[in-house]
Amino acid sequence: MKTIGLIGGMSWESSLYYYRIINEAVKQRLGGLHSAECLMFSVDFAPIEKMQAQGRWQDAGQVLADVAVRLERAGAGFLVLCTNTMHKVAGVIEERTRLPLLHIADATGAEIRHRRLRRVGLLGTRFTMEQDFYRQRLTEQHDLDVLIPNEAERETIHRVIYDELCLGQIHPSSRQKYLAIIENLVAAGAEGIILGCTEIMLLVGQQDVQVPVFDTTKIHAVAAAERALEGEPAQLTV
Ligand code: GLU
Repeated sequence: MKTIGLIGGMSWESSLYYYRIINEAVKQRLGGLHSAECLMFSVDFAPIEKMQAQGRWQDAGQVLADVAVRLERAGAGFLVLCTNTMHKVAGVIEERTRLPLLHIADATGAEIRHRRLRRVGLLGTRFTMEQDFYRQRLTEQHDLDVLIPNEAERETIHRVIYDELCLGQIHPSSRQKYLAIIENLVAAGAEGIILGCTEIMLLVGQQDVQVPVFDTTKIHAVAAAERALEGEPAQLTV
């Protein structure tokens, strides 16, 4: 089994689900008392969020690249960056380490294509919804048609992520706002919805939505477990 190197803490509210989902996936595959070999370096999110807001992406990338180097030295076999947004600096991280990075948009794109959908709505931070690093990867490398909410809706989604979900606050009124935005995306032709921020799964899930929902936290964590187990024989129990 390969050792997974998790770059977490953005926010820790979602990183803890990575740990759980990865271990559940390894247990399901190998059985018994098997669990994942993994390392998580969980950063202090406050300075990272400040750098995002100030547009200091290169600086934030260097902080995460330092973490990647430490995970590499500690024995990680590959890297998992536990946030959609910070994949904006995936290239900065990749320049400083030899470890492969399991990109969250690739895991998500592959899952959507596996379900044979092409047109999907994307919810996430403003950075993820509005900038090229995420959408372009989905359109160019996974041949998807990506719809995003309108300006006012994007503002609402972004605000709820940073002011509520990353602080562990789950408000039914915000859930209703998200569901109304999802309905608009479906009315505009979305065949599925990407929960493209790792905290959104705290607020909405498949049970709330009629079209397929792609929870990037779960998809990415399961893909990490699968990557760790590549080449391992399937085994029911110890
Ligand atoms: N966890 C979030 C994401 O998946 C947002 C927090 C961050 O800015 O990294 O995009």
